[in-house]
Parts: sequence; structure tokens; C-alpha cells
Amino acid sequence: MHHPDHFLPYGRQTITEDDITTVVEVLRSPFLTQGPAVPAFEKALATKVGAVHGVAVNSATSALHIACLALGLGPGDRLWTSPITFVASANCGRYCGADIDFVDIDPETGLMSVKALAAKLELAERESILPKVVVPVHLCGTSCEMASIAALADRYGFHVLEDASHAIGGRYQGEPVGSCSYSAITVFSFHPVKIITTGEGGLATTNNRHLAQRMAELRSHGITKDVHRFERKAAGPWSYEQQHLGFNYRMTDLQGALGLSQLQRLDEIIAERNRQWQIYRELLSMLPLQLLAVPEDVMSSLHLAVIRFADPRPEQHRRVFDELRAAGIGVQVHYTPVHLQPYYRTLGFSEGDFPEAEFYASNAISLPIFPGLQEDEQGRVVNILTKHL
Ligand SMILES: *Cc1c(COP(=O)(O)O)cnc(C)c1O
Repeated sequence: MHHPDHFLPYGRQTITEDDITTVVEVLRSPFLTQGPAVPAFEKALATKVGAVHGVAVNSATSALHIACLALGLGPGDRLWTSPITFVASANCGRYCGADIDFVDIDPETGLMSVKALAAKLELAERESILPKVVVPVHLCGTSCEMASIAALADRYGFHVLEDASHAIGGRYQGEPVGSCSYSAITVFSFHPVKIITTGEGGLATTNNRHLAQRMAELRSHGITKDVHRFERKAAGPWSYEQQHLGFNYRMTDLQGALGLSQLQRLDEIIAERNRQWQIYRELLSMLPLQLLAVPEDVMSSLHLAVIRFADPRPEQHRRVFDELRAAGIGVQVHYTPVHLQPYYRTLGFSEGDFPEAEFYASNAISLPIFPGLQEDEQGRVVNILTKHL
């Protein structure tokens, strides 16, 4: 039953009876953490996206952090990302003591502009301030132009770390996001609002054995059970070594089991999101609005359905946003440009630094899109838009 006035969030999780049964089984098992479910989830997810290794952790933020550390990012280094992302894409570099800079977006897709990246790299090379890590963000589940970014990485010698928090189940040139064909490491998020969930959780994929091992150690205190290098005679079956300073970023088996169960539905979820996006496209076609573009060679996982005003007027964005909220539609703006957050302003960024990103944020609204959203509910959203445009 759908109450006409019920609240529609921009996104939400779906939990099935199978998910619940799977988690309850773990609760009855001897292992709540460090049992078989997490390695099984890692293996299943890596296989699904065509990567060799998967390292599961307690959030995508943690995954981004240990990915940066594994790539050797440290004080004096630079990390570049998009200003239109969640703050974690940039914060991971700060955790390592690196300096952050941003690359402006392509206004059609909202993704990091390859043109802007190429131009910025050319300048940075002249000034010897090239980045060590670049983090392309697959906003809305739409892959960045990875082949071009990888070509620039070869030329300028930086590592590519894909923030695919929105993009599990998506494809670029036919290949699954996460296969790391064009990057060192890809990171996924399983926060409840994302495509599939583990409550909180994240996972890094890579095809590099050393990076995988390093990340696996960093997520658990920097400890390895591998005592080859253990020099003291006291070495025994009880021995473990802390090789470097790590963290407790482990995922629990409860979460691993939930992830494994959710992963079974990934293809269905992506198909449903794509259908809902097509419905919006048809319903919105008569209005002066545009959905953010998805390039031809990308199959987006459509984590977000972002509209922009075709003929932007300053007061309109706020007014329409407020009307939607007042009608019980949980619209959102993804995102306030990261460089304009108070913390990043204290690091020297200000208005005007990334004009495309700033314009985008003043003109974009995320509409509800999630498994189970009904066509009549999409119609209700579009009716409210129509009334207030
Ligand atoms: C959600 C999100 C993150 C952080 O994910 P958590 O799992 O909540 O830590 C990072 N980057 C982007 C783009 C996100 O949307």
C-alpha cells in the first residue's frame, strides 16, 4: 500500500528474507569476525568484477585510506580528485599527510574532466608538482573515461585509484568497474544508501599481489602471520609479527555474509535502476530539465538520478528543491564541492577555483532512485517538478 504522502528518500537499501537468514546463520556460528564469510565475500566480489584480489574493510573511507598508504602516498606528495564527490575521496590523502588538489568536472557528465586533467598535469610537470595519486570518482555509478586517464597516468607517472563507491555493477567499454584494467586499485562502498550494503563496509580490488597483501596487513594492525622474517629463536606457532603501523579496519563476518547475499542480486538491482532512469527520461522529456549524461561506452549502475535545469536561474534551484522536500520527496544535492567545505577552505581553497563544479552544484538535484521505487511514485516526483518549474 502506498500512502500518497509517504516520504520518498533519494535512495535506500533493500533487505530480503534470504539476507536475514544468512546473517542469522553467522550469529549462530562460532565466528562473528575473522571467520569464513569475509574471505568468501572478497572472492565472490573480486570474481564478479574480474579482479584478482579483493580486500574487505569496515568502510570505503578505510579502503581509500589503506589504498593510499599501499600506493606509498605520504607527506609532501599530492593527491588529486574531483571536487564533485563525497569528502572521503579527498580526506584519504589528508590522512596520509599528502596535499590535496582538485580537477574540475565535465559539465555534461559531472565526472572529472580529462581535458582539465591533461591541462593541469602539463602545468604541474613544468612546476614539478605532479600528483602521486589521482582518484577519479565514478559519480552516480557512471565510469570516468578510464582509458584516457590511464594514458595520462603512464605519461606522467601517477597511480590511479578509482573511487567506485557508487559504481558496483557498472561497466566501462564492456568491462566491469573494479576490474582494475586502468587503475592500481578500485574501491567500493557498502553503506546502506549505496548499490548493495553490508551495513557499513568497503572493499578494494586490485590485480597486484603486493598491493593486496599490503592492504590486508594495514587493515589489521600491520600484523602478518607470515613469520619468515621473524629472527628470534622464540618463533613458534603462536608467533605473529607487526611489520608496520596498521589499523583495525576489519569487516565482521556478519557484514561479509550480508554482502555475499546482497551480491547475488546485483545484476537485478542494476537492471531495475536502469529501468527507473529510463522512466525518468521519458517523464522528464517535456520539461526544461536534463538528466546527467551517461556516455555511450558506459553502463552506469545509476546510484543517483541527477537532474539539472536546462535554463538555470539563480533562485529556481533552491525553490524547486524546497518544494520537492515540502512534498515529502527526499531530494539531495550530490555534492557541495569539496573545496568549498570549511575544512578545505582552511587549506587555501575558495569560490571560483573550480567553476564548472560550482556551477553544477548550484544547478543539480538528485531524485529518488532505488530498488522497489514504483512508477507511480516517479510520476508523483515529476508532477511536483512540473508544477513548480
Ligand atoms: C559513500 C562514499 C564514500 C565513503 O563510503 P563509506 O563506505 O561511507 O566510507 C566515498 N566516496 C564516495 C564517492 C561515496 O559516495
